[in-house]
Amino acid sequence: MNSCTVLAVDDEVYNLETIERILHGKEGFFFLKTNDPKEALNIIRQETVHIIISDQRMPGMSGIDLLKRVFQVSPDTIRVVLTAYPDLQEVIEAVNLGHIYGYITKPYNPEDLFVFIQQARKYYELCTENKFLVEQLKQKNRQLEKSNEELKKLDELKNRFMLIASHELRTPATIITGSLELLSMQEEEFSEYQQNILRNALKGAFRLNEIIESFFTALRLEKDPDRLNKSHFDVQEMIQLLINRFEPHLKTRRLELQTRIEERLSLEADRGKLYLVFDNLLSNAIKYTPDGGKIVIGGYRKDQQVIIYFQDNGIGIPSEELERIFDTFYQLEDLKFHHSSRFEFLGGGAGLGLALCRRIVEAHRGRIWVESAGDGQGSTFFISLPRTTN
Ligand code: ADP
Repeated sequence: MNSCTVLAVDDEVYNLETIERILHGKEGFFFLKTNDPKEALNIIRQETVHIIISDQRMPGMSGIDLLKRVFQVSPDTIRVVLTAYPDLQEVIEAVNLGHIYGYITKPYNPEDLFVFIQQARKYYELCTENKFLVEQLKQKNRQLEKSNEELKKLDELKNRFMLIASHELRTPATIITGSLELLSMQEEEFSEYQQNILRNALKGAFRLNEIIESFFTALRLEKDPDRLNKSHFDVQEMIQLLINRFEPHLKTRRLELQTRIEERLSLEADRGKLYLVFDNLLSNAIKYTPDGGKIVIGGYRKDQQVIIYFQDNGIGIPSEELERIFDTFYQLEDLKFHHSSRFEFLGGGAGLGLALCRRIVEAHRGRIWVESAGDGQGSTFFISLPRTTN
């Protein structure tokens, strides 16, 4: 604040002169005075008054009544009452009700009054700064709300695009896979070279189907997260099914796999969807662990939860990425370093697997998270699911 305007109101001119003397020569203060409360209101209407000091007992209007009206005209003006001891109770009430900032009892020491005025000035500055900050905050909030709306729209657009794309791709992909499968039934009629091409084409077609299906599942879950087809099943059995499926890839990559699952650990959940979660976590563990590495699948009960984890000693995940890898399409590595096969070291993917896992786990009112000590330190993915029956 460059200059602080102080307006004093008192029917006794002598009192006004006392305050004038106190402020005389004090840098940064501009002094106004009147012995008429109505005149005080006129001044306030016409110019910015930072502090008003009014006597409580005046003919026609009490100090508190004047200051209440000042508040209506200029709410930012700091309102102070000068009062004699007998009126103290009424004045304190006015402070408590927020009608005035404070009071000074008469007789007062001129230095104390000056200190009080300086405090009132600081308070005015603080209030102004607060107002400015609150306004800035409100503006930022409005901007955030707008950005959020735009993001939501973009997200909807992305979903629509994915839905249309996967829908349009589904039929031709099925036709390609079916035709290649038909061809491979007569494999012996082809040369070794042709058979190789056919096998590669079939592998690619299966992968294409897998990706399109994961798009579909993700979108369907987003639209209807609660649509779960629950049944009761044994965790060890399901993990064994999974291991049988992955056995050839584990062998090719010389990966050691251990299971540490508590006996008779069971779940009541959507079996098909959870299989998809386990499938994603194991294929990631395979993909992100170099040849000769080790993977552990474990499961145990903890309070009312079942915890299942997939631990690998692979490439690990930097701490700042631990949350973000669950976002749709999020991948840490540059796509160009990906191999095309899903089970090779750093094999390719669509960056959808973990987003899908999170949706499925959360639809079951569970939680999925990852722990990793960083680059080259391996990762452990945990799933915690409510043990609805056991
Ligand atoms: P992707 O299809 O790329 O594997 P995911 O959603 O399954 O997509 O995983 C997202 C990213 O999380 C991966 O691209 C990878 O960077 C990281 N990630 C997932 N699992 C592991 C793991 N076991 N070890 C290290 N990084 C992993």
